[in-house]
Amino acid sequence: MFTCDFKDGVWQKPEITPYAPLTLDPSARVFHYGQAVFEGMKAYKDDNDDVWLFRPKDNLARINKSAERLAMPAFPEDVFMDGLKALINLDKDWVKPGFGNSLYIRPFVIATEPAIAASPAVEYKFLIICSPAQSYYSGDVRVLVAEQFSRSANGGVGYAKAAGNYAAQFYPTNLANQEGFQQIIWTDADKHEYLEEAGTMNVFFRINDTLVTAPTSERILDGITRKSIIQIAQDSGITVDVRPVKVTEIVEASKNGSLKEIFGSGTAAVVSPISAFSHKGELFEIPKQDKRYSDTFKEKLNGIQYNKTEDPYGWRESI
Ligand SMILES: *Cc1c(COP(=O)(O)O)cnc(C)c1O
Repeated sequence: MFTCDFKDGVWQKPEITPYAPLTLDPSARVFHYGQAVFEGMKAYKDDNDDVWLFRPKDNLARINKSAERLAMPAFPEDVFMDGLKALINLDKDWVKPGFGNSLYIRPFVIATEPAIAASPAVEYKFLIICSPAQSYYSGDVRVLVAEQFSRSANGGVGYAKAAGNYAAQFYPTNLANQEGFQQIIWTDADKHEYLEEAGTMNVFFRINDTLVTAPTSERILDGITRKSIIQIAQDSGITVDVRPVKVTEIVEASKNGSLKEIFGSGTAAVVSPISAFSHKGELFEIPKQDKRYSDTFKEKLNGIQYNKTEDPYGWRESI
């Protein structure tokens, strides 16, 4: 694992050491005030055993944006990139080749300073840990459109990958699970009128042949998969409408047959097709498509990630 401490106002010398438990003071501020942000990214291996990252600088930019919102210090890009590459090089054998296999990479920052005082810490730890990952078929994903709980609100931390955002989703998601839904489609906290994110993924709708997704905002996380899909879709000649998406519009589109697909997007699964959604007690099934956009996007993104195709965007980065 990669670790680097923030002390006396500066990031200290980073280290790579064997994965092991941390020793922290019980009064470390992270345990009390939730000053913690994280990232999720992957390393992929091609047929020549070369290892690749996908837009890694965007992850660093985002963790720094998240950190700023939680009054935490930014981490320098060169130290991150050098440390990340050194770590993945050491762990190269854990990156298995073949589509679906990858090394999941989890950078995160926690407030380590011992102090029972509700103010920003002056000491932090930046870490990167890794784990081999395999994508699997998650089955039909049925989602519940949120009508009671909210993930984020204007002026809040929804755009940040703050640890607490996840903890706050567990309870409503458990309730949805008990009703037979795997995930919640989060709506605006104000009137639950607009569809914003699916679980911990961005969400796309295909209405006839147009791809629709909400604009990123202070409530919606700026997903790297989301923006990559938008780019690929546009370059494939698909019309992409980035605009607020009303629940009533999607219900209507489902009723009149123009709703062809709903899918979530994120690093873990690239795309996660949704087969049905429930709103105000009514279930709407999405008919199976012959040639789904979501499959095309996954294929194209995987092609770039696993170094199987050209990368006209410069997204792939060698280790
Ligand atoms: C991480 C995350 C995403 C997806 O971001 P990617 O960069 O595509 O992995 C979307 N929504 C939320 C809330 C997230 O935490």
